[in-house]
Amino acid sequence: MSTFNAPKGTFDMLPPYSETFNRIRIQFGLELRDAGFQYIETPTFEETGLFLRGVGESTDIVTKEMYTFEDRGGRSLTLRPEGTAAVMRSVLQHNLYAGRLPVKLWYFGSYYRYERPQAGRTRQFTQVGAEAIGSDDPLVDVEMIALATEGFQKLGLRDFRLLLNSLGCRECRPVYRAKLQEFLRALDLDAETHARIEINPLRVLDDKRPEVQALIADAPLITDHLCEACAEHHTFVRGMLDELEIAYEDTPRLVRGLDYYNRTTFEFVHDGLGAQSAIGGGGRYDGLSEDLGGPDLPSVGWALGIGRTMLAMEAEGQTVETPADCDVYGVAIGDAARRAVFAMITQLRIEDIPADMAFGGKKLKGAMKAASQSGARYAIVVGDRDLTEGVAQIKDLSNGDQTPVPLDRVVTVLKEKLQ
Ligand code: AMP
Repeated sequence: MSTFNAPKGTFDMLPPYSETFNRIRIQFGLELRDAGFQYIETPTFEETGLFLRGVGESTDIVTKEMYTFEDRGGRSLTLRPEGTAAVMRSVLQHNLYAGRLPVKLWYFGSYYRYERPQAGRTRQFTQVGAEAIGSDDPLVDVEMIALATEGFQKLGLRDFRLLLNSLGCRECRPVYRAKLQEFLRALDLDAETHARIEINPLRVLDDKRPEVQALIADAPLITDHLCEACAEHHTFVRGMLDELEIAYEDTPRLVRGLDYYNRTTFEFVHDGLGAQSAIGGGGRYDGLSEDLGGPDLPSVGWALGIGRTMLAMEAEGQTVETPADCDVYGVAIGDAARRAVFAMITQLRIEDIPADMAFGGKKLKGAMKAASQSGARYAIVVGDRDLTEGVAQIKDLSNGDQTPVPLDRVVTVLKEKLQ
């Protein structure tokens, strides 16, 4: 009990569950590094203007969900609601695009959105993200999709699907947008939706209400209105995914909650999660660099939600084995023995052998219980009598066998036993 609880919409990442969390981070980190991505970390808050410009002023994220505050110096700052805008800001600020392109970066961290909390939707959540900045090659789109797919598969996930769409470009999307607006304006929709038709008509396609879905059943589709270049790009991506045998579902109504996307857009959904089924998403954002005052840097990226990925793993019974806390556990009775055992534990750690000991002057029985709970293979047991004889007892915790070993040989003997 405490006077305080974690704020609404946030949670504590507790052991042993936190082991899965770390495992996901490590696995994606290794996989992305092997594919040529380097790690980047940007601040958890940015100038508010970056997200207004980068995410889009008419998006739900910007209009309803940002944690924006003024600091003591009068600056308007915002806790980052997503990763891409900040990574692009950083790439532009530090001229990272001056060398070989695309610049490939990955990141891992917390993001903040003031949303209505529910299962799989929190106000602080963690994403792993990857961005390939500075190439319009559709093969990079496929690379990104393949890496996310492989990452999910390596975590043991099977019941996820890849939804794929193209959102066109600056040439063809406005033509489609006008056509869609014309169609939507004629429908009998509420005032709020009519307002949305004027600001962000594609979002109307994403309306979850069945009555709205029925009305828009015949709405024009972006994939029927792509210009030649976008159609070619999309055909290449689909063809290459087929070649790699990566299954996808053409989803011409897939729109994403951020304005910067164009051409290839995709979402990974998991069928065991209920309403909040998106475990990750991404796409191309060819115009973002220029929107932020940079040069023409066509780019593609994704962000995967770690919390939802963990829920998906749980739904598929993919538990992560918790490694034993340590290999060796020290049990000391008496003050001189405590000092001797602590010195041995420290030496074992220097030798890269995971080791721990009973602290707080526990009695023998309590300390031995702690040793068996630790998952260690061996215990070093030292009492005052052992000390006067110059030995420690090495106890094999799997069968209870106990052998006296000279104090100065303990670390060497344990190293040999654990090889
Ligand atoms: P987005 O930037 O909205 O495309 O989000 C990418 C991924 O982050 C989603 O597919 C989710 O897995 C995860 N995500 C986004 N918002 C939340 C949230 N409020 N709570 C938990 N996970 C989230």
